This record gives sequence, structure tokens and C-alpha cells, in this order.
Amino acid sequence: MKLRARKVSAAIATVLTLSLAATACGGSDSGDGGGKITIGIKFDQPGLGLKTQDGKYTGFDVDVATYVAKELGYEAKDIEWKQSISAQRETMLANGDVKLIVATYSITDKRKAKVDFAGPYFIARQDLLVRKDETGITKAEDLNNAKLCSVTGSTSAQNIKEKLAPKANLQPLGGYSECLTGLENKSVDALTTDDSILAGYASQAEHQGKFKLAGLKLSEEKYGIGIKKGDTELKGKINKALEKMKSDGSWDKFVEANFGKSGYKYEPAPAIDAS
Ligand code: GLU
Repeated sequence: MKLRARKVSAAIATVLTLSLAATACGGSDSGDGGGKITIGIKFDQPGLGLKTQDGKYTGFDVDVATYVAKELGYEAKDIEWKQSISAQRETMLANGDVKLIVATYSITDKRKAKVDFAGPYFIARQDLLVRKDETGITKAEDLNNAKLCSVTGSTSAQNIKEKLAPKANLQPLGGYSECLTGLENKSVDALTTDDSILAGYASQAEHQGKFKLAGLKLSEEKYGIGIKKGDTELKGKINKALEKMKSDGSWDKFVEANFGKSGYKYEPAPAIDAS
């Protein structure tokens, strides 16, 4: 009798364990829809990706990311925003820290060796930001004797070193907002990156009248949405979402809402190549 009772309770325990395991599996929230999605953006680039003092996220990249997430099955409340500084983007995607990166992220061959891109969804140009009274820096070559700030891991810093002004005294920092402080207190003479980003800084209320853009189109920066290398299914879905964003008028709405005030003359929406 005793032995049988033990057997029965062992059997019950087995059933319980199995059903608990089944519940745990069914409760998982990975996959499309119903779960959460983590998206990498910039936190310090007004007009593009900005975390405001009251903890909100604003900017063109945020609007594009929110639209794309919706098409992938995630509501705005299901998005977890993570800061992706320029130098960390490839690593964050490779590690799976974020599913998407929508962070003024230029599509380049070098980056394509490590990550994949959907898009492009925007075109910007490398430019310079200088103090309003600056007269000595009007073209890229003038940077060769100047103190210049840009960001580690950006195409902007790379272009300077490799072709635009290899003799510039380049100070690479972690984020462009740090360069801006340097420009203000005169520890640097110019800040270089995409005109889209520079226009956002120049038009901020606290910077009114302090800085100007040189207006040079030093490169072509095609912004893509970064994803883990090899995820062709996700890339296809995002490209479809970006097509829809253009055709239903959302792209126009987003650029106007985010760049309208700064007077930044953005280029027309680029063709999305599925390559
Ligand atoms: N678009 C350029 C890049 O991806 C510069 C802006 C940035 O660093 O995010 O490197």
C-alpha cells in the first residue's frame, strides 16, 4: 500500500511539472505582436532622436521607428527605447541588445559587413557647425589647422581623417552634444556631422544666435534602419513599412513636424532599395 501511494504521488508530481513547463512556454512574449520591442535611438539629437527632460522621446527617427514598429505589430507603449551612441551601434545589434536601430545611421559597406540595413529612409549631408562670428572656416580644407570635434564611430570623423582634412586636430567624443559644449566654450572651433543634426542644435532655443552651419555638402549620408545581420525576413517587412510610410503621407508629416521649425532644407524621400 505504502509503495503504491508513493508511486501515485510521483506520477502527480510529474504531471504537475509538465503542465507548469507548458504554461511557461505559452506565456512567452517573444515574436511578432503582443510583446515588447527594443529600439536603439540617439538621446541627444534634437529633431532626430531626443530624450526630453520629462522623459519623452521625440524626433524624426522616433516617429519613423514608431511607425515601423506599428507595422511590425507593436504599439507605441510596447516600445522600449535604448540609447545607441554612434560607436556602439554594430555591437548592440550583434549582441541582440536592440532589435532595430533608427539613429541617424548611415548605410556604409564597412558597416554592412557586420549588420544589415533596411531603407534608406532619409538623406543628409556632412556639414560644419561653427560659432556665429567665425570667418576663418568656410571650407573643409580650413579644418586642417583647426580644432575640430566629432564623434567616435561616425562616418563624419572617418571622412575627416581619410579625405576631407587629415591634418585637422580632431577631438573625437562620445556624442555630438558634448562637442556642442566645446564649441560654445571655445575649446573647439568647429563641429562636424550631418547637416540634419547640426540644424537641430542651431535652432534650439538656448542656442539662438550662437552658431551657424557652413552649408557645405561634404558627403551623402543615407540613413538606414539597422538590424541583425542575416535577418532578411525582418528587412523585407521593414522595407514594406517604409514604402507605406512614404505612400500614405506619413514621411511628409514627420519631416515637417521635426524639421519645419529649424528651416532645415531636407532632401526628398529616397527610393528604398531592397538590396
Ligand atoms: N550619419 C553619420 C553616421 O552614421 C553621422 C551621424 C551619427 O554619428 O549618428 O555615422
